[in-house]
Amino acid sequence: MEIIDTIYNEIIGFLGISKAWEILQEGNYSAFKTFDGIVSLIYPIIPLLLILEFILGLIYKKPDTKVYKVNFLIYLFNRFVGRFIAIAMVTLCIGLFQKYAPFQTKMTWYWFIYGYIIWEFAHFLYHYWGHKVRLLWCLHSTHHAAENMNLSVTYAHFFLEAPYADTIRTTVCILLGVQPELLFLIMFVDGTYGAFIHVGENMIKDARFGPLNNFMLTPSHHRVHHAKNPLYMDTNFCNLLNIWDRVFGTYQEEKEEIKIEYGITREMDSGNFLNVYFGEFIALFKDIMKAPRIKDKLLYIVMPPGWSHTGNHKTSKVIRTAFLNKNYNVVEQIK
Ligand SMILES: [Zn+2]
Ligand SMILES: [Zn+2]
Repeated sequence: MEIIDTIYNEIIGFLGISKAWEILQEGNYSAFKTFDGIVSLIYPIIPLLLILEFILGLIYKKPDTKVYKVNFLIYLFNRFVGRFIAIAMVTLCIGLFQKYAPFQTKMTWYWFIYGYIIWEFAHFLYHYWGHKVRLLWCLHSTHHAAENMNLSVTYAHFFLEAPYADTIRTTVCILLGVQPELLFLIMFVDGTYGAFIHVGENMIKDARFGPLNNFMLTPSHHRVHHAKNPLYMDTNFCNLLNIWDRVFGTYQEEKEEIKIEYGITREMDSGNFLNVYFGEFIALFKDIMKAPRIKDKLLYIVMPPGWSHTGNHKTSKVIRTAFLNKNYNVVEQIK
C-alpha cells in the first residue's frame, strides 16, 4: 500500500493542489483571500492546463505523444535532485551577497516593478549565456529538443540547469538590492508565467495577444525562441517583458510567412531520453577529442555552439546573418 500512497502523493504534488485541498478540507474558505490562499489556487493552473492541452491533442488527433513521453521521463528524473540543489544555491547566494547590496527594496508595488526589471535582466544573462557558451548550452539544450510545443516542455530541463540559472539570477538581484521576500514573489510570478508561455498551438493557435505583444513576451515570442529556422534562432531570451531583447537587439516577432520549426539543428532523436538529456555533452566531448591543440579544446567549452577549430563556423550568428543577406526582402520586412 505504501507504493499507492507514494504515487498518490506524487500526483497531488505534481498537480500542486495539496495546499488548496487542505483549505477545502478545513472548510476555512476565507483563507483563499490570503496571499498563501491565492498562491494555492494559482499553482495548479499550469498542470491542469497541461492535462487539458493533452486531451485537446487527442481530440484533434495531434497528441505530440513523443514530446510528452520524454518530458515525463525528464520530470521524474529531475524530481528530487535538481530542485534541492537549486534551493540550496539560492540560499547560498543570498547569504553570500546580501551584505554587498547598496540598498534594500521593500514590499511595495514600485519596488516590485524595479525588482522585476532587474530579474528580467538577470534572466536574460543566464538564458543568453545558456545559448552562447557551449558548456552551458549542454545544460540548456534539453529544454530545446522537443519538435512540438506544449506545456510539458516547461518540465524539460537538465537537472543542473536550475541551479545554474538560479545562481546567476539570485546573485544579480541580491547585489542590486532586491530583498529575498520580493525575490521569492518575483520567482513565483516568473515561474508561473514562464510555464504558460509554452502553451501549445492545440490550445491557443495565435498567441500574439494583440497590443500586449509590444511590451510583453507572449507565447508567440517564446515559440520563436524554440524555433530552429535561421531567422528565429537565438532570439527572444526574455520571460515576461521583452524589454531586454529590444535593448540587446535579440528581439524577433513571429512571421506568418515563416512557419516555426521547433527543435535544435543537431541530428537527433527527440524521442530518445538519453539523446535529449546527454546528446550535447557527447557532441562536445567528440569535438574536444577532435581538436588538435589544447587551446582549441578549451575554446570548444566556452565558444558558442557551432564554433569550429577549422574556422568553418556554423554558429547561429553565421547562419542567421547568411539568411538575412540572402533574403534581402526579409530584411526589409523586419525593419
Ligand atoms: Zn533557450
Ligand atoms: Zn522554453
